[in-house]
Amino acid sequence: MATLEIKDLHVSVVSEDAPKEILKGVDLTIKAGETHAIMGPNGSGKSTLSYAIAGHPKYTITSGTVTLDGEDVLEMSVDERARAGLFLAMQYPVEVPGVSMSNFLRTAATAVRGEAPNLRHWVKEVKGAMADLDIDPAFAERSVNEGFSGGEKKRHEILQLGLLQPKVAILDETDSGLDVDALRVVSEGVNRYKASGEVGVMLITHYTRILKYIEPDFVHVFANGRIVESGGRELADQLESEGYVKYTGKSEAAA
Ligand code: ADP
Ligand code: MG
Ligand code: MG
Repeated sequence: MATLEIKDLHVSVVSEDAPKEILKGVDLTIKAGETHAIMGPNGSGKSTLSYAIAGHPKYTITSGTVTLDGEDVLEMSVDERARAGLFLAMQYPVEVPGVSMSNFLRTAATAVRGEAPNLRHWVKEVKGAMADLDIDPAFAERSVNEGFSGGEKKRHEILQLGLLQPKVAILDETDSGLDVDALRVVSEGVNRYKASGEVGVMLITHYTRILKYIEPDFVHVFANGRIVESGGRELADQLESEGYVKYTGKSEAAA
């Protein structure tokens, strides 16, 4: 059973030649079977947390640790992180012209599983997973994310999630830009994946809407580069009615 442990994580980003500290001591433990919602105003550092865990080169870890089942994640290459069972669905997915979704997914699955999936089984697996997410089969041959709508990109992230079966999934604003129907389909996909009870989910979101479909076990308020409050679902309800003002001193409109 996997445990992702983040301890006193400090992260800086180099912007306009001076490094700027974005994460100021994040502590968070996610165990298999748990869903943790990370909620906070824009610019509080939520995406920085996910990028830092994923190993994005722009983000420098200045102190603290991240381990997966006791293994040092920060020492791993991006590929090794994926193989160890970490999955990041990005807020702004990249487009990869010239690489079809089907090839991309098979390459990713090969990297994670350590061997190329049997082609015939794989085609079946992908078709089934696409049908579950109401994705048109024609998308298999389209270039990765190229010309995809926001909702289509999100569906493809969840498709990857289902096919790669990571131990810990970090979903960064999976709900943004989704209409209610797409939100339901995407949430059902996440819930199917969670059903094994063997995975941990970090669900980063600005809005409480998605939490009506994907129930969190824990809710953490993120403000100014750290977790400032943790609680259960009731904390999300409180945020829904009161917003983040209490934590930032700024009104939502100014965030
Ligand atoms: P959130 O996801 O909570 O909206 P981010 O992690 O995207 O917050 O951003 C936190 C802060 O770090 C913001 O002030 C943002 O401008 C800054 N930041 C994040 N990434 C970069 C980057 N690559 N270059 C410069 N500044 C960045
Ligand atoms: Mg943001
Ligand atoms: Mg963000």
